[in-house]
Amino acid sequence: MIEKIKRNLVWRYTCIILAVSTLVFISCDSVYHYVVQHTLEENLLDFLQEEVREAEGYNSSFHEEVHSYVVDSKMIQTFSYWLLNGKVIHAAQPDGLVGVEFLQKVKNWQHPNMKIQHIKIKEEHEVWNFATVSEDFNLNGKQGKVIVATNLTPIEDFSENYRQYGLLILLFICVLSYFIAQSLANRAISPIVKMYNNQKEFVSNASHELKTPLGVLMAYSELVEAKFGKNEDINVIKEEIKNMSALIENLLTLSRLDNQKSQEEAVDLDVSFNVKEIVAKFNQMSADRKFPITLDAAKNLQAKIAPTDLQRVMNILLENALKYTPKDKKIAVTVEEKNKKIKILVKDEGVGIKEKDLPHIFDRFYRADASHNRKVAGYGLGLSIAWKIVEKYHGQISVTSQEGQGSSFSVEFPAA
Ligand code: ADP
Repeated sequence: MIEKIKRNLVWRYTCIILAVSTLVFISCDSVYHYVVQHTLEENLLDFLQEEVREAEGYNSSFHEEVHSYVVDSKMIQTFSYWLLNGKVIHAAQPDGLVGVEFLQKVKNWQHPNMKIQHIKIKEEHEVWNFATVSEDFNLNGKQGKVIVATNLTPIEDFSENYRQYGLLILLFICVLSYFIAQSLANRAISPIVKMYNNQKEFVSNASHELKTPLGVLMAYSELVEAKFGKNEDINVIKEEIKNMSALIENLLTLSRLDNQKSQEEAVDLDVSFNVKEIVAKFNQMSADRKFPITLDAAKNLQAKIAPTDLQRVMNILLENALKYTPKDKKIAVTVEEKNKKIKILVKDEGVGIKEKDLPHIFDRFYRADASHNRKVAGYGLGLSIAWKIVEKYHGQISVTSQEGQGSSFSVEFPAA
């Protein structure tokens, strides 16, 4: 249970750390873009105003005057074009193909004034990005247009690098967050682990302490019975002592399983043979049933398991099958090997389990549907013990059931 809580916490903490990191990354990216874009746009508009002022003071004869600058796409540079009557009267533009193409584009400029537009120009292996804006100007009663542009390529390249580094850092945080989450979960869970261990120790000690007085009570009950003969009242006392002893035995078994204290070493065990013996014993004990428990087992199926553990699991499943199946209904056991696993199936035609109870029946002290359980002895510990034993061998235990139709418990152990 503690492991389950821890896994859950680690998963949640990892998600939280990752979500926060991603959010920080996205926010930084957005803020960076906003600030850069805002500053660039403001500078570009200032530059446009300056160019408009200069263009309005232009007094040369209107011949074309184009200056081309050798500019590396990695350098930021601003460019400008003055157009009058569809003719370029002044231009300061990048050198080469980019300049020619840019000039081509702005000559037919249709974009509204003072609205920044982004233009991409491809030059062999490079792509240039420009932010461009225009404004009208007046020269001796004639209306012209000033178009200015700024080269965004270096900023966009820088952003791309920054984004790649950011993603790498995010990946690193992904790995790191798992370890941080584990350490946080360990811290958060440590008081619960302490409490849980104390509780386990208490249950184990109390069970040990109770064993002796119950033994004494049983001995005295038998003494009284021997002295005064069989008596219904003594029978009730003996029955209750037996129930209490079974409960204490179960609690001690669970405590041993929790502490991983194995009483017996796992051996290469002939599961088919052992299950056959157990079924035979149960058939002897329940001779009053209409049908004996049937067994269908392939021969010589081996698993590495301690014999007492196999016996415990089978006892729990068969005792339950007998408890929850009317005497005139069938119980069947099969043993088979599938995908390197030894699978034991205990199928009954009993009362079945309600769908709402199915996810809980392996929990400690859980008893499904009190109405049918009140008549049947038990404390809801059997299946949790079976679960713990099967888990110890890295096996699996599961159930399918339909209310009123019966249940089918399946146990799988890795084959030897
Ligand atoms: P107990 O049988 O002592 O109550 P278990 O842990 O063995 O405790 O079983 C838990 C619950 O699962 C039982 O109370 C019962 O409601 C249900 N259950 C287990 N086995 C069967 C079965 N074969 N048929 C119907 N219900 C079952």
